[in-house]
Amino acid sequence: MDTNILVIGSGISGLTYAIKVAEQNPSLEIVMISKNNLLESNTRYAQGGIAVVSNFEKDSFDKHIEDTLIAGAGGCDEEVVRFVVKEGRKRVKELIQWGAHFDTQSNELHLTKEGGHSEKRIVHHKDKTGLEIQQSLIKKIKTFSNISLLENHTLVDLITDHHSGSNYKRCYGAYVISNLEQEIIKISAQITVLSTGGAGQLFSHTTNPKNATGDGLGAAYRAKVFMEKIPFVQFHPTALFPKIKGNTFLISEAVRGEGALLKSLSGKRFMTEYHEKAELAPRDIVARAIAEMVNQSRADCVQLDCQAISEKDFENQFPTIKENCQKIGINPPKDPIPVIPAAHYFCGGISVNHYGETQLKGLYAIGECSYTGLHGANRLASNSLLESLVFSHRAALNSIAQMRKTLPPQDFYDHLPEWKEEHYISNEKISAIGKMKKQLQKLMTAKVGIFKTSQGLIEAEMELKNIFKETQDIYRQNKLTLGICELRNMVSVAYLMIKQSQDLKKNMGVFYNQDYVE
Ligand SMILES: Cc1cc2nc3c(=O)[nH]c(=O)nc-3n(C[C@H](O)[C@H](O)[C@H](O)COP(=O)(O)OP(=O)(O)OC[C@H]3O[C@@H](n4cnc5c(N)ncnc54)[C@H](O)[C@@H]3O)c2cc1C
Repeated sequence: MDTNILVIGSGISGLTYAIKVAEQNPSLEIVMISKNNLLESNTRYAQGGIAVVSNFEKDSFDKHIEDTLIAGAGGCDEEVVRFVVKEGRKRVKELIQWGAHFDTQSNELHLTKEGGHSEKRIVHHKDKTGLEIQQSLIKKIKTFSNISLLENHTLVDLITDHHSGSNYKRCYGAYVISNLEQEIIKISAQITVLSTGGAGQLFSHTTNPKNATGDGLGAAYRAKVFMEKIPFVQFHPTALFPKIKGNTFLISEAVRGEGALLKSLSGKRFMTEYHEKAELAPRDIVARAIAEMVNQSRADCVQLDCQAISEKDFENQFPTIKENCQKIGINPPKDPIPVIPAAHYFCGGISVNHYGETQLKGLYAIGECSYTGLHGANRLASNSLLESLVFSHRAALNSIAQMRKTLPPQDFYDHLPEWKEEHYISNEKISAIGKMKKQLQKLMTAKVGIFKTSQGLIEAEMELKNIFKETQDIYRQNKLTLGICELRNMVSVAYLMIKQSQDLKKNMGVFYNQDYVE
C-alpha cells in the first residue's frame, strides 16, 4: 500500500489532523489506521471537557496561561503555553462547525471548573465530552473520499533507513499488522503521523482503555527518535473502586468542581491538610494525598462525598458517572463514591517542535503520544484535548507545506522492503503474554508509580530485564501477533520510564521520589 500521508491512530488528534489536511488539500491521499474500531481511544472516555477561555468578563488568556504554568511546576515551555491557550478558541469553534455539540446556557457555552483552574473555563458535553467529539469527528471524516480508513490494523514498526538501507534519515511509513488475519502489510508514505495516545496500561489501575499500550512510543523508541519526560505520568486522583468488567472508570474532577468532598472511609475530610485549594488542588497533590490516606488506613480506597450537589444537578451534569456507580450498587449524590487514584495521562512523550515534527524527518507526533512542552511536569485538567486540537492543526498545515519540498523519488518508496518475518518455532508461549502484561503492571505500580524510591527503581530495572528477555524470546520464536506487539511496546516504555526516572534528581510535578523529600 502506498499513500501520501499515513495517520496512525483515530483519537481527537489523528482525526482532526486528517480532516484538516483533506479539507486544505483534497489531492493528497491519506490512510488512517486504528488498532480497534475508530471510536475506541482515550478521547472517547474524556468526561470533563476542553479548557478554553470564553468568558472574557471574568477570565483571560493570562489567567489560563498562569494556571497552566503553575500546574506544570516549572517544566512548561512558556511560548508553547501562550500559543496553545490563545489558538484554542479558534480550534474549538472549528470543532463546533464540524458538528460537535457542547452544553450551553442562555446561548453561551456552559463552563465548568476543574482542579488547578482559577476560573470556570471548561467547555463540555454533559460528562461525555470525548464521546461527543469523537463521534462528530468520525462522522465528518467519513465524508472525505481521499481518506481511507483501516480499522483493526496495528502499527508494528516505523519504516526507516534501518529497513531500506538508505541514508535519507527519514521515516517512510510503517509496517502494520491486520488484527484479524494477522498479516503484516507495508504502508509506504511520504509523511507518517503518530497519534497513538498514551500508555496507561503500564499500570494496574488506569482510566485508559485496554488499547493504550504505548505503541507509538515503543515504535518511536526503536526508530531512535528522541523522547522526553516519560516518567511524568499523571495519576487521576479519583477513579471508581472497584473495576467494572476489568476497566477502571473515571470520576471526573468536575464532580469536585461542583463541591464534592474527599473523605476517609471513617468520614474525615483530609484535603484541607494538604493544600489551600483542598479538593481542587493540582492533581498530583490530590492523588498523593489519597494514596497516602489509603496506605495509612490500609483501606482499599477513600470516598467522595457528593451531598453538596443536588440530585437533579448530578443527574443532569453527570449521567454517565451515575450510571456506572449504579453498576456497583452506589447511588450518588446520596451515597459517597469509593475512589482511588489511577494512571491517567502521559505528560511526556515523543519530542516535537511547534508544528508536531519529530527529529526524524517525515515523522510527526501529535496528541498524547507527543511531548510539546505544554504540560511540563504536570498537566492542567482539560488541557490535553486543547493541545491535541492546536497541534493537529499546526501539524496539518506544516505537513502540507513539507509535501511541496523535495522528497525521495517515488521509485524509492515503491521498492521499500517487505516485513521480514523471523522463522518462528511455535505459538506455545503466546498464552504467557497476558500473564506477563499483568506482571509488568504490578511491577510498575509498586516501584514506578505515584511514590518512587531510588532503590525501588534499581529493583524495577532488574526485574524488567527478566521480563524483557522473556518478551524477546517470545518475539523471536513466535509468529507476530497483536499481543506480542503490545507487550514489546509496554516493555520499551517501562524501560525508558525507569531509566529517565533514575536520571531525575529532584521532585517536580507528578514525579515524586520519596528519597528526595527533605
Ligand atoms: C477517562 C479519561 C478522561 C479524560 N478526560 C479528559 C478531559 O476531560 N479533558 C481533556 O483535555 N483530556 C481528558 N483526557 C485525556 C484525553 O482524553 C487524551 O489525552 C486525548 O483524548 C488523547 O487523544 P489522542 O488522539 O492523542 O489519543 P487517543 O484518543 O488515545 O487515540 C489513540 C488512537 O491510536 C490508536 N492506536 C494506539 N496504538 C495503535 C497502534 N499500534 N496502531 C494503530 N492505532 C493505534 C487507538 O486505537 C486510538 O484510535 C481523559 C482521558 C481519559 C482516559
